[in-house]
Amino acid sequence: MGNKAPGKAHRKGISLLQLTRIFPDDATAEAWFVEQRWPQGVHCPFCDSDNIQERPTRKPQPYRCRECRKDFSVKTGTLMHDSKLGLRIWALALYLMNTGIKGVSSMKLHRDLGITQKTAWYLAHRIREAWTSGNRLFGGPVEVDETYMGGKKANKHASKKAKTGRGTAGKTAVAGIKDRKTNTVQATVIDKTDRPTLSGFVFDRTAPGAKVYTDEHSGYDWVENHEVVRHSVKEYVNGMAHTNGIESFWALLKRGYYGTYHKMSNKHLGRYVNEFAGRYNIRPLDTMTQMARVARGMAGRRLSYADLIMG
Ligand SMILES: [Zn+2]
Repeated sequence: MGNKAPGKAHRKGISLLQLTRIFPDDATAEAWFVEQRWPQGVHCPFCDSDNIQERPTRKPQPYRCRECRKDFSVKTGTLMHDSKLGLRIWALALYLMNTGIKGVSSMKLHRDLGITQKTAWYLAHRIREAWTSGNRLFGGPVEVDETYMGGKKANKHASKKAKTGRGTAGKTAVAGIKDRKTNTVQATVIDKTDRPTLSGFVFDRTAPGAKVYTDEHSGYDWVENHEVVRHSVKEYVNGMAHTNGIESFWALLKRGYYGTYHKMSNKHLGRYVNEFAGRYNIRPLDTMTQMARVARGMAGRRLSYADLIMG
């Protein structure tokens, strides 16, 4: 168990004080976001031309494309699109959300950043969206498991029933996979826990020949190269056949879900799952590298407030 979070001892964290020195104002934060988005120089988000006229005094759209004549800023065509918040606030929010291992509540962001809670809530959901990644193929060995989140408080005592009934009692099922070699995870909300769904989940995320460990749930019956851990007979660690890795990810997700985001609705669960998986996967990196990763993930994506509240 000593090999969790490889490189953790060497990763370079930064303090809040250092952070405020790195980003003393909006201009330095803007320069940093520009560097992350366009390391090869500014490109037009509409036509990809690099024939760009810089007009530093023309805020909030300091660039004009000489090809398509459109004006834009570093926020245009990203999750920051239309945001009135300064880029320093965005940088600080990236820091807080990357370093808060159990997540950061919108109440905390509201207090720490001096913005309204509603603004903080929308800001956090847009950053969560940046953690979304497409399916990757794990080479294995992998551990796969499913868990249940949420449900009304009144149903908490019914959690036993939820377990045997697989996803009843207002709970939402989440499937997760952990690759032992890269120490990274993928997780997603699922509608059902039947064979097409769970076996399909594994198929979409494993390279051919990857060794797969799961519990005895029949949903994994179609998975190839597959070994089962029989939880029901207390055989928790059967040689290499265990799912302790993905279960420790569930523990982290649940601590955040019930501790930090206790007022959260199931509607947004998918985004929280993305957040926890995304943060888990970059945890060995330096803080500034983590922030850069998430900043780059914001390009080419949108999450309007209307879409968010409509769900
Ligand atoms: Zn253009």
